[in-house]
Amino acid sequence: MKMISKNDMKERNRMSILKTIRSGVCSRAEISAALGLSKPAVSALVDELIKEGLVVETGRGDSTEAGGKKPILLDFQADVAMIAAVSFNNKHYEIALVDLLGVVKFYMKKKIRIYDDYRQTIDLIVQGIRDLIQEARAQGQQQPVMACGIAVRGLVDTDKGIMRYSSAMPWKDAPIGEYMSQSLDIPIFLENDARAGTYVEMLNSNGNYRDTLVCVSVGIGIGTGVVIGNEVYRGAFGGAVNLAHATIDHDGPLCRCGNRGCWEALASITAFGEELSRRDGKYAELEFGEIVSLYREDDPIVADVLLNYTGYWLGIGIATILNVFNPEQLIIQGEITQAGPELEKKIIEVVQQRVSAVTRRSQIRFSEHSEKLQVRGAAAIISNHFFSDMYHRMIWQ
Ligand SMILES: [Zn+2]
Repeated sequence: MKMISKNDMKERNRMSILKTIRSGVCSRAEISAALGLSKPAVSALVDELIKEGLVVETGRGDSTEAGGKKPILLDFQADVAMIAAVSFNNKHYEIALVDLLGVVKFYMKKKIRIYDDYRQTIDLIVQGIRDLIQEARAQGQQQPVMACGIAVRGLVDTDKGIMRYSSAMPWKDAPIGEYMSQSLDIPIFLENDARAGTYVEMLNSNGNYRDTLVCVSVGIGIGTGVVIGNEVYRGAFGGAVNLAHATIDHDGPLCRCGNRGCWEALASITAFGEELSRRDGKYAELEFGEIVSLYREDDPIVADVLLNYTGYWLGIGIATILNVFNPEQLIIQGEITQAGPELEKKIIEVVQQRVSAVTRRSQIRFSEHSEKLQVRGAAAIISNHFFSDMYHRMIWQ
């Protein structure tokens, strides 16, 4: 058995205190009671956190005991530092500067150029980060930028910061993390975009889910992120959980991967657009947002395809996911959520018809955090790491 040193213990207690304060304004006595730590130990660690700027005293709360002194309340200072967040695909890159709880403070989105040499593209992004930091400084924001999270489509080696493969880029085994950390001199964390999206839900759940969580992100493609026991599940080689190319309909439409009837070829927004164009060519040139407007104006063809095609195929795939993971919650994220509650209802209906009673207990819902999901996902990687024993000291020294 590994011995836990005094210092490790102190670090753990410090983190527990920080998490407690983050989950709601509270006093030293409440922390002591909630964590079972002595009042002097809590006080000493809280004083340290105040010195570091992570915690502030916000005034006095109500007295609980008759005649007792009103306790001093403590609050987490999310804007003591900033996090840089990047997401990119073969069309655009997005950069955000966010506070420690992922609130976007500065944001930019620009057209990208994908060069054969990844370094040239990354140089563009690094320049974008520098420009945005400069903008923040010009507006009086002097906080240090602690770390940078990057969310990309494709297969990534999170530990080594290597982008193994992406269908959207010509690069193979590109060590993006190392290259960027040399330019920016801060820790860089690279993650697959679907998994980054799950970090957004973890960050915003504030402990509201306890066990297994599955996020399905539906946009141009379909991505799936799975959280088991508060850890994002990656699989032995970083490829988990990729259900986009699971065969759902053996003689369904041709997929860009070369197979037929993959889930992505049936249930993504791309597939929705293609099916709509097959019904009537007049929809071919429209963006998803425009089609959603038509749906709101009661266009019967759009409604039929959205609910009975896209909704149906999403339900079929999600029923399988529920059977595999039996999650507490399954959250649908991404552009598709713009379609609103009727689609959500339809998906749930299809799922309910196809799963057993125990699986039916999983809660299925649309995310409330789909706006700027990719770049917020990149930021949420760092926010979650900031509150983890494993990574905290890499980000906060
Ligand atoms: Zn496929």
